[in-house]
Amino acid sequence: MFVGSKKGLIDGVFSMDCKSMFEALKAADPDIYAVLAKETARQRDGLELIASENFVSRAVMEAMGSTLTNKYAEGLPGKRYYGGCGFVDVAETVAIERARALFGCDEVNVQPHSGAQANMAVYFSVLEPQDSFVAMSLNDGGHLTHGSPVNFSGRLYRPLAYGVDPTTHRIDYDQVASLLREHRPKLLVAGASAYPRVIDFERLGEMAREVGAKFLTDIAHIAGLVAAGEHPSPIPHADFVTTTTHKTLRGPRGGMIMMRSAEAKTLNSRVFPGMQGGPLMHVIAAKAVAFGEALKPEFKTYQRQIVANARAMAEQFLSLGYALVSGGTDNHLVLIDMGRSRSMTGKKAEETLAAVDITVNKNMIPGDQASPFVTSGIRIGTPALTSRGMREDEMRAIVTFIDRALKTPDDAKALDGVRGDVRSLCNAFPLYPDLGF
Ligand SMILES: *Cc1c(COP(=O)(O)O)cnc(C)c1O
Repeated sequence: MFVGSKKGLIDGVFSMDCKSMFEALKAADPDIYAVLAKETARQRDGLELIASENFVSRAVMEAMGSTLTNKYAEGLPGKRYYGGCGFVDVAETVAIERARALFGCDEVNVQPHSGAQANMAVYFSVLEPQDSFVAMSLNDGGHLTHGSPVNFSGRLYRPLAYGVDPTTHRIDYDQVASLLREHRPKLLVAGASAYPRVIDFERLGEMAREVGAKFLTDIAHIAGLVAAGEHPSPIPHADFVTTTTHKTLRGPRGGMIMMRSAEAKTLNSRVFPGMQGGPLMHVIAAKAVAFGEALKPEFKTYQRQIVANARAMAEQFLSLGYALVSGGTDNHLVLIDMGRSRSMTGKKAEETLAAVDITVNKNMIPGDQASPFVTSGIRIGTPALTSRGMREDEMRAIVTFIDRALKTPDDAKALDGVRGDVRSLCNAFPLYPDLGF
């Protein structure tokens, strides 16, 4: 390949000292340098429990912050609308091959700029404006792009929402079946942003086939778990599998679409020229790097630890009397019913924890009566802290920090004490030790 045959050139190009990576920025733009420095310190000095966030490797960051951002490469590898694409073609081909190896899918498009774009391309492939589709309600754990009225998916199409059983908080599979039989839509969507349990993709895939609907599974949150075998894979059952690359998969911010071969021609044309212009080649290179990392045995261990950590947190919350949506977790997140647990809103809980440098997000819970700006729940995820090397003991300690803060939300002195304990724990688990922070 090109890269290997030009080793001498590469050595010459990259002989500069990488540790000086922010020096030019510091000199040229102190305002934005200050933002980078402060945001990096915030990530280092706090406990990141947002379930959709993670910390990428230095290698992933280097690929993203590279000369590949300079390149236009509309089209697909070997079939571009611009010259000079020989090297970026290699990056995209490697990303595609690694994604195939990781998930065992037929075809992949690694160009979507985000998870939302990935879903948009599938809708553009399967649906016409005004068509109906069946997907999970946002209030019960679905995503904005699954038919919310404020999102293109709810404005262009007619979404029919299924939810969870009000007592078990498990997906109401019977409701899915009856919606499909009654409306016979062209598309069934499965996948969620705030659902702590295993999703039965096989059962949903059979239901879709029965009514002749295409089946899209959106594994944005659980892609890492799926790749590592910690959640059953939807690949054998779905026509399309969309994902983000930046959540449990621990790659750069972006999206990806896996699909059956028969879908590839139309789908690829919906991504470009249907929906996007030039692909972000620096991000695609970083996706390749992240998929390479995910193919290593350590990644399986990492994903197993994410799940073990979430379970340890859930058990500790339950032992302290908290009410968890569905009573626990099978994956990387727990949803706490703050109203039933502590007569507190999700908003107040989020703000209280922010005051002790613990970052979570308020979240709607099944049957929530509060508005999306207030909510009755919080969502807590373990992928980011697991990347820092934390394990079950640290998770149990963090639950006690959270509990102490939520018990004394208006006692500044007590909160200061918790914040000190948070800082000590963070200091013991450096974020990017080889970069000095
Ligand atoms: C995060 C998420 C998305 C959207 O990803 P973005 O990159 O933020 O656009 C789509 N679907 C689900 C289920 C998600 O959790």
